[in-house]
Amino acid sequence: MHGSRGPTAGVGGSTAEFRGNGDAVLDPELREHPRTITYLHDHHPIGAETIEVAPGILWARIPLPFRLNHVNVWLIRETDGWTVIDTGTADPAARAVWDALLGGVLSGSPIVRMIATHGHTDHVGLAGWLSEKSDEPPYLITLTEWLAAQMRVEEARTPLGTHALRFLERHGCDPETVASFGDDRRRTLTYMEPLPEAIIRLRDGDEVRFGGRSWQVMVCGGHAAAHASFWCAAEKILIAGDQVLSKISPMIGVFPAEPEANPLAEYLASLDRFRDLPPDALVLPSHGLPFHGLRVRVEELAYHHELRLTALHGLMQTPSTTMHLAHGLFPKAVADGQGRHAFAETLAHAHYLLETRAAERRTTADGKIVFAQS
Ligand SMILES: [Zn+2]
Repeated sequence: MHGSRGPTAGVGGSTAEFRGNGDAVLDPELREHPRTITYLHDHHPIGAETIEVAPGILWARIPLPFRLNHVNVWLIRETDGWTVIDTGTADPAARAVWDALLGGVLSGSPIVRMIATHGHTDHVGLAGWLSEKSDEPPYLITLTEWLAAQMRVEEARTPLGTHALRFLERHGCDPETVASFGDDRRRTLTYMEPLPEAIIRLRDGDEVRFGGRSWQVMVCGGHAAAHASFWCAAEKILIAGDQVLSKISPMIGVFPAEPEANPLAEYLASLDRFRDLPPDALVLPSHGLPFHGLRVRVEELAYHHELRLTALHGLMQTPSTTMHLAHGLFPKAVADGQGRHAFAETLAHAHYLLETRAAERRTTADGKIVFAQS
């Protein structure tokens, strides 16, 4: 197994385990299925347009003020109103689209249930605002994500503390990257409305009903501590959240608040769970286009990390700090001012190599943490 410590530890096979030779072990069943991803549509909804992706499941796209410029939300028809999954950030453009949806497709019937896949600002930033406009319907989220989102808002009120500064410095971060961690922390305040004050707690394995269907809750780590995806076995529909995206790989990072975390092990363990679902499921991801080809995408994501691990292991031939390794592993991201992401992703991969004993960690005479091949 991956030696993961998260809630998904011990699940499924070990095909994504790091082997150090760059060969991802592809699922033999893949040979039985076309190795392609088919998009349900070649376009996405614009403005307050919606596209019905399955009977009663409407797809809307909320703009985001980030490089990743949108988040998908799902509006699900109920006999007495609507279930809404995720919201976008607290941002004027996002509010404008919601106002248009509320005055358009959603008008006439109330929002009777709100659901969050996880607590990142692009998924919950407007949850409190929308909840208030909708007479505070039940809000379903994992307890961990509800608390984590509120903790990030609390943190954002103060500058980076001694622990975080020391952590970043010991890993070789340059002042620019350190500053961007601080800026990002402060921005949380801008992008988050206060969350709904009460929740219905989602747990792994729960069955929840919405839109006339029964859904199994799959709580996985890696991208967030307790991210919820929703699986409808009867109709083979996966509301994937950020856990399986169609084109990009979800951010897997280590951050100062949990400096010893191994989120990549948790993420790869979660892919093992998605690998067990029917390969022809319809996948509704939070970013990008809905698609068929879950098994193919899971293998691609596992392979993507396998390649990164192999490249990082190679770079560790010279004992180096995480930030130094990030320059080698993600040169484009660092050059594009994404040093913070590159750093956090690199450390996640380094911790995976550490836990699989492909790498070791040392402290230099001047107090820097370096990783080296073991
Ligand atoms: Zn997201």
